[in-house]
Amino acid sequence: MSTLVPGIHHLTAVASDPQRNIDFYTGALGLRLVKLTVNFDDPSSYHLYYGDRSGSPGTLLTFFPHRGLPRGRTGAGQVTATALAVPASSLDFWRRRLDEFDVGHTDAGERFGETVVALEDPDGMPLELIGVEGLEADAENVFDGVVPAHSAVRRMHSVTMTVRSLDATSRLLTETLGMQASGAEGERTRYAMAQGGAGAMVDVRSGTDDPAGRRGAGIVHHVAWRTPDDESQITLRNDLASLAHNVTTVQERCYFRSIYFLEPGGVLFEIATDGPGMAIDESVEELGSALRLPPWFEGRREEIEKALPKVRLPGG
Ligand code: ZN
Repeated sequence: MSTLVPGIHHLTAVASDPQRNIDFYTGALGLRLVKLTVNFDDPSSYHLYYGDRSGSPGTLLTFFPHRGLPRGRTGAGQVTATALAVPASSLDFWRRRLDEFDVGHTDAGERFGETVVALEDPDGMPLELIGVEGLEADAENVFDGVVPAHSAVRRMHSVTMTVRSLDATSRLLTETLGMQASGAEGERTRYAMAQGGAGAMVDVRSGTDDPAGRRGAGIVHHVAWRTPDDESQITLRNDLASLAHNVTTVQERCYFRSIYFLEPGGVLFEIATDGPGMAIDESVEELGSALRLPPWFEGRREEIEKALPKVRLPGG
């Protein structure tokens, strides 16, 4: 009884200053700001989405920025690293670019045969650039912006989560979400999702004595796995509920529909539908160029805009 999860849908983290977040992800990392909206659960704060040219599932990094929010602590019960896939041949380009932008980085060696460059975003969120062979040719939807397409980030590579004990988390990933244990290196076990390759892997670190994480800026809020449509989402929801996971009802997120639950290691998981996608309220060309609100907040647009900090958009 398992419904296959094809891959990662998006990852959402908490940041402090929205402008610094926009400048880093669209500047140093060259991602496209694909949606400027508000936190649907708290419209006094932005929800910033970055991704590829059209904001495809699997490329989306999203942030809730709160100015002045203190840093959290990365630790057990969290996603502890977020990896982005870049063409293997572009890693030297990336080391030089990070130097130019004064972003500290370290060569973190090889992981399952791929080279890892580790860095942090301006809030201290752990990021990794992982060089993947053959990605050069995989350029269909790449955002050809400040970073030339041949070197640009292609999509998310994988996430690393840290949990105290592997067993219950492993059972959920494999038996309920249909992932397959695909390898182990030290304290790290890798699980592969149906689509395969970069964007369809999660690494679970366990048996470490890392202290528990603490919420705050630079901390991942949740990771979302893809599901093709509403029907597959309901099937998964029923599976999760029958296993006594405390799963939410389906939430309307406009660009996708979502359910949420805590996995046994303490990490908040979301299952998000592939559709309808980022182009539902603005064209692909316009993505991220203006504040978009869900229909139920449009009547309060003036009040909401006034309360939000002003930001300078890329190219603006
Ligand atoms: Zn989410």
